[in-house]
Amino acid sequence: MNAGKSTSLLQSAHNYREQGMEVMLFTAAIDDRFGKGVIKSRIGLSSDAIVFDHTTNFIEQVDAYKSDNKLSCLLVDEAQFLTAAQVNQLAELVDTRNLPALCYGIRTDFQGELFEGSARLLAIADKFVELKTVCTCGRKATMTVRLDEQGRAIAAGEQVEIGGNERYDSKCRRHHRELMQQAQQ
Ligand SMILES: [Zn+2]
Repeated sequence: MNAGKSTSLLQSAHNYREQGMEVMLFTAAIDDRFGKGVIKSRIGLSSDAIVFDHTTNFIEQVDAYKSDNKLSCLLVDEAQFLTAAQVNQLAELVDTRNLPALCYGIRTDFQGELFEGSARLLAIADKFVELKTVCTCGRKATMTVRLDEQGRAIAAGEQVEIGGNERYDSKCRRHHRELMQQAQQ
């Protein structure tokens, strides 16, 4: 989506690195828009990242991190694709290693349902920051619509489509509802 999540993540990584601190970046295996293991923003910033899938154990990842310098922060893009167990692992790292974990993602899928990772984050995260974007009508866009190749909203389907030609757009709740109702007719 166009709220600048990846830009914000990469800016945070830059701020840490500028102070000589080390960070670990993660992105979902499912997101192959820009090739595996890279977080890239729409304004041209990019950074290598470790790819996670549902089998990744974040505590093991941190234990395996080798550096002379102290690891200062974990940054996770596409955090909606975390499992609840993985969000718990990140929380454990925060609590037991004093290691901040900044997770960037979207709240709901194209049908307005919470993703598993987002649900767990909403339940236990210490802090939330809303990155705002606007709908075509100017209202705050809080919802996601899935569009087919002709740009028409799709009402049904799997929560995550891999390798398809659909794309996503950010809409306000009112326009999300109208588009979903049109798509169901
Ligand atoms: Zn709208």
